[in-house]
Order: sequence, then C-alpha cells, then structure tokens
Amino acid sequence: MKKVFIGLGSNLQNPLYQVVSAIEEIKSHNDICLLATSSLYKSRPVGPQDQSDFINAVILIETKLKPENLLNDLQIIEKLHSRVRLKKWGPRTLDLDILMFENIIMKTKKLIIPHPEIINRQFVLMPLLEITHQNFNIPLKGKIKKYI
Ligand code: AMP
Repeated sequence: MKKVFIGLGSNLQNPLYQVVSAIEEIKSHNDICLLATSSLYKSRPVGPQDQSDFINAVILIETKLKPENLLNDLQIIEKLHSRVRLKKWGPRTLDLDILMFENIIMKTKKLIIPHPEIINRQFVLMPLLEITHQNFNIPLKGKIKKYI
C-alpha cells in the first residue's frame, strides 16, 4: 500500500458540493482508503481573474493502485462531474491532481510526480501543511516550511 496526496479544486457549479462529493467518491473506491482530509480552502483563481473563487482541499489516501491507474480513476471521477475546460487556467468543475505518491519521482507524458506546481500554490501548500507538519518533506523540493 502506498500513501498518496491528492489535491482537489473546483470553481464551477457549486464548488463546495463538487469537492465534498468528489472526496466521498474517492472514499468509496474499492482500492482506496481515505486517511486524512484537510479543511476546505477558498482561493482567488490563478490566471484570468474574471471567474469565481476556487474551493480547494488536499486529502491523504492509501492505495495499492499504480500511479497510472489511480490517475485514470481520478479522471473518471472528474468526468462524472462533467468537467468543463474551455481555456488553460479557466474555470473548471473539478480538478484532481496527484500531488505526491510516496517518494516516487516520475515524469511521463501523462504524469509528473511530484506535481510540479505544489510549491508555487498556497492553495495546495496550506491544506497540505494542515494534514502533515512543518518538516514534511516534498520529494525533490525539501521541507514544506520553506515555501509557506
Ligand atoms: P490539468 O487539468 O491542467 O491539471 O491537466 C490535466 C493533465 O495533466 C492530465 O491529462 C494528466 O495527464 C496531466 N498530469 C500530469 N501530471 C499530473 C499529476 N501529477 N496529477 C494529475 N494530472 C497530471
């Protein structure tokens, strides 16, 4: 079993509902055990400002799935939420990112782990800190406290 941090975000169609129900859907996956859930955080959008605030959260799960299979199942959940993406950094119904997958480091066409934007996004760092600690180590990047 591997421990995995997942970032969730939404700014369309009742974002609070999108994030809370996505967590429930992830929790009910047969091969996933939910270990921790952060609070819900509200943040201003990155990029175009003519869109609603985001609701973000980070969860910690345990799974025997391989990274590619987990990504695939998360993308099925995104589709269930009728994800609409009209432009880069535009509004979205549900965004699910694999932030870290144990200490795995990988870079393929489909998957970059750890997620390269973790350290640049306070809306990921704050909920991540909440369910870890100041000295938590982000693979390749070092302690989380350096970035907060
Ligand atoms: P975005 O919705 O902008 O986050 O981008 C989605 C695409 O990013 C997906 O099609 C994935 O193949 C790719 N991707 C690369 N690394 C990751 C990751 N760590 N977690 C989720 N998606 C990823």
